[in-house]
Amino acid sequence: MSDCIFCKISSGVVPTDFIYEDDTVVCFKDLYPKASTHLLIVPKKHIDSIMHLEERDENIAGHMIKVAKDVAKKKELKGYKLQINVGKDGGQEIFHIHLHLMSKFS
Ligand code: 5GP
Ligand code: ZN
Repeated sequence: MSDCIFCKISSGVVPTDFIYEDDTVVCFKDLYPKASTHLLIVPKKHIDSIMHLEERDENIAGHMIKVAKDVAKKKELKGYKLQINVGKDGGQEIFHIHLHLMSKFS
């Protein structure tokens, strides 16, 4: 885990209100929202970035999108964006894979 903030959040070491949680992922609010709705879907397993995603982790990536869809549906968002920043030059700041769910609706 070392010093990874998303490991600490997803494991409960840093108490956070989860909008959704299952065995594989958690979903919580982005601390510095860039849209009316700005959530993060984060796997409990530490993977640095999409660049480090291995074949055995493909199901995690698929599940993240499925959870984003379900959360958006539950929040009755009429439309939204899903974004994954990959690598420092791709705008990634936290090196633990996460999917941004952003919407102008809330
Ligand atoms: P990235 O640029 O790595 O794709 O996105 C990282 C996101 O994590 C940013 O949108 C940033 O606002 C958010 N963030 C950074 N630190 C924390 C934190 O401690 N808690 C939460 N909830 N979000 C964070
Ligand atoms: Zn981590």
